[in-house]
Amino acid sequence: MILPIVAYGDPVLKREAEEIDENYEGLQELISNMFETMYQASGVGLAAPQIGRSIRLFIVDASPFADDVDDENPDPKAEGLKDFKKVFINPIIEEEDGEDWAFQEGCLSIPTIREDVYRKEKITISYYDENWDFHEDVLEGYAARVVQHEYDHVDGILFTDHLSPLKKRLLNKKLNNISKGNVDVAYRMKFPVKKRSK
Ligand SMILES: [Zn+2]
Repeated sequence: MILPIVAYGDPVLKREAEEIDENYEGLQELISNMFETMYQASGVGLAAPQIGRSIRLFIVDASPFADDVDDENPDPKAEGLKDFKKVFINPIIEEEDGEDWAFQEGCLSIPTIREDVYRKEKITISYYDENWDFHEDVLEGYAARVVQHEYDHVDGILFTDHLSPLKKRLLNKKLNNISKGNVDVAYRMKFPVKKRSK
């Protein structure tokens, strides 16, 4: 089932989400609905707050980045992305290191806006998968990037929060329009600000 994606301005996107346990009702169905929703919207990641659930769960499938890889000229940041489809439950970023690098990020909750965001190259993250098996992974490049973006969502942080105050001010009108639903988007969304009826 495709779920509506919550748009910028909804308070659920600013809330620090709660951990869940193995008794969380309907978890497998929720995960499968989130994948369906993400693929339909052509996303590479989706966090539970984006579909209105304030829980520490996100999914990623970064294989579209692998498709861009040129065999003659491989991009080291795209390494290992072919099967990079994962579920992260109760994740903790244990460590971040390396240089800060810029990448133009977008977000299914903030359609039409893309901006350069600086993040560290490498992360160590611990989490449970959909079978409640525990993992600790070291990620780099685009894999780290997608996970850092989604991890922010379960902490109530959006990529626009990483922009300079000036940049954010310049985007203010666009962001307000997104909250009101004045935006062209090809997937189902839920907008926090009701349009005034005439
Ligand atoms: Zn996002």
